[in-house]
Amino acid sequence: MLPAESKYPSVWLNADLHCHSCVSDGTLEPEDVAARAKANGVDLWSLTDHDEVGGQHRAMQAASDLHLPYLTGTEISVTFAGTTVHIVGLGFNPDDTALVTGLAATRGGRRERARDMADSLARAGIRDAYEGALKYVGNPQLISRTHFARHLVETGVCSDTQEVFRRYLVEGKPGFVSHRWATLGEAVSWITRAGGMAVIAHPGRYKLTANEEYALFSEFKTHGGEAVEVVTGSHTSADFLKYADMAVEFGLYASRGADFHSPEESHTDLGTLPPLPARLTPVWEPLADRVHQP
Ligand code: AMP
Ligand code: MN
Ligand code: MN
Ligand code: MN
Repeated sequence: MLPAESKYPSVWLNADLHCHSCVSDGTLEPEDVAARAKANGVDLWSLTDHDEVGGQHRAMQAASDLHLPYLTGTEISVTFAGTTVHIVGLGFNPDDTALVTGLAATRGGRRERARDMADSLARAGIRDAYEGALKYVGNPQLISRTHFARHLVETGVCSDTQEVFRRYLVEGKPGFVSHRWATLGEAVSWITRAGGMAVIAHPGRYKLTANEEYALFSEFKTHGGEAVEVVTGSHTSADFLKYADMAVEFGLYASRGADFHSPEESHTDLGTLPPLPARLTPVWEPLADRVHQP
């Protein structure tokens, strides 16, 4: 963290508060993600695996060994307005029983969903995708579309994971299976009751109408959500400005994170994003007392 007497504005901190390890759909071990964050000059880090806190103690220890300040993290899958949105949690107690139980329930349907995805791919002529995807899974409880995407690239069906998500695994395409995740209220309350802050992840990625997006932000606040990702690897520079305005309009703190998954696949590396716009209040100000200082 910036020392209290720093002459630099807090938005200049190189915080990276959104990324994945092989505990969900990243390719690196939590320790290797920590080392990469450190090597890239990250000043404050959080590992935010999907629907999982199983890597948090490893991430915290690795960060401590590297003298890297750390906030606990996760990214929860939520069904809202018929689509999937992601809510990041930061600075919570990773051993909180309601949080751990809630995440386990959210993960619960993934295996059956994956079998249905494989059946759908088989009808499109792609056989044995379930077994293929499993080869890439680091955590048996967390088989995701990303693991199918790696298998389809490795077997030459597509040339990269972006192409997979254009041609398969998304609504209306082979391999897509609709799924009911946690509710917005559940995700926000698991995070906040565990002492953390809820953050709307990469809002620019959702295919919501303007009214639905307004409803997402309003309902999120009503449930006790306090922040939004403004600068993320999933946003264009136009999105940075749009969601900076939305943060001000809704009185939300702002977060920043690459959403790094893999050295081979991710176009945005840890710690390489532009800073948050100076008019915003970064999440790391209210969360300062929850940072694990090495
Ligand atoms: P799941 O939780 O199984 O639905 O998988 C969601 C994950 O798929 C996201 O967290 C991303 O890592 C990945 N993903 C989704 N859309 C895309 C895309 N267009 N390109 C690359 N990866 C994507
Ligand atoms: Mn992912
Ligand atoms: Mn996400
Ligand atoms: Mn993510």
